Amino acid sequence: MRDQFLVFGRPLIGDEEIAEVVDSLRSGWVGTGPKVQRFEQQLADYVGAAHCRCLSSCTAALILSLRILGIGPGDEVLVPAMTFVASANAVEHAGATPVLVDSEPGTGLIDLDGAEAAITPRTRAIMPVHLAGRPVDMDRLDGLRDRYGLAVIEDAAHALGAEWRGRRIGAFGNLAAFSFYVTKNVTTVEGGALVTEDAGLAEAVERLALHGLSAGAWQRFSEEGFRHYEVVEPGFKYNMTDVQAAIGLRQLPKLDRWIGVRAQQWERYDALLVGLPLSTPVPPALRTRHARHLYQVLVEPDAPLGRDELIDELTELGIGTGVHYRGVHLQPYYRERYGLEPEQFPVATDISERTLSLPLGPAVSEADQDDVIAALSAVLARAREAV
Ligand SMILES: *Cc1c(COP(=O)(O)O)cnc(C)c1O
Repeated sequence: MRDQFLVFGRPLIGDEEIAEVVDSLRSGWVGTGPKVQRFEQQLADYVGAAHCRCLSSCTAALILSLRILGIGPGDEVLVPAMTFVASANAVEHAGATPVLVDSEPGTGLIDLDGAEAAITPRTRAIMPVHLAGRPVDMDRLDGLRDRYGLAVIEDAAHALGAEWRGRRIGAFGNLAAFSFYVTKNVTTVEGGALVTEDAGLAEAVERLALHGLSAGAWQRFSEEGFRHYEVVEPGFKYNMTDVQAAIGLRQLPKLDRWIGVRAQQWERYDALLVGLPLSTPVPPALRTRHARHLYQVLVEPDAPLGRDELIDELTELGIGTGVHYRGVHLQPYYRERYGLEPEQFPVATDISERTLSLPLGPAVSEADQDDVIAALSAVLARAREAV
């Protein structure tokens, strides 16, 4: 029994992040400013995209993506059923219709054949999710995009650092949205970013993120001198602050090392879970780099207890876990609004009922990981005896 609860998704915040935040706090410039600009450049360089704009969240990036593409009422957007609700919610906020697509077996990623079959004359965009950090097949996605003239908005919340055929996710010429929420591979506590090759779209995003004020409006109180702003359209309030960017600036240089740590933990789980009634994740595809955001097992159907009971028992033993996800199609709002049945999404429904994410990441020690394995073994053995 642990004396401290193992919090799932705990970030690792080092002295450099703290010093950089303190530097911002002492500087007096705590809002959107030069550190946000530096972080945007750092991100654009890292993923290999021409332009990056930081925002208050990945959700904001998804909402603004749809907005700048002019997607709204009457339009359909293909969204995986197996994702966090933010993806589908963004489409609802645009006034468009999210058309949910089942997962492919094994990886749980959006089934691109299913996506193609769901295309109608109203389909404007597809919003693939690189679930758990595993890149979607970008060659097939490009094919769909070009054949049907779709816009692609990648929900890359899990995928900072992921690669497909040697190219980083975010460098495929699409809009791609990243998240820096606390549990993600890099955090700014709350935050997100949108990358694009299109300077005009980047400018539009920057404007919409700050009330629709002419771009660079945050600079109007700086030493560059006072300037009046112009409002060209009503925008939102989705800007990132320098205090947030300060953390990100010091987190991002550690990402590649951290993905290496995650990959080692991944292999250790694969080895140590052998013999338990849990299916381990399918290995990354050849010539890809999995960002290793989540280590997800599936509780086998003949296991002596179900996923939810297993979570409760692990919690009792001081082990925090996650569920990624109960599909969008199972959420009451979507189920009722679109008359969806779980059976229409057999793979996503199966994953929803059986998936369990184990603690992973640089804040998880080897001893923590041993505790997770020991707790899983103990709970499952006890349950088997009770059957
Ligand atoms: C975390 C997450 C989001 C939302 O990110 P925020 O920055 O919290 O808005 C969107 N999509 C997926 C798949 C996520 O995991």
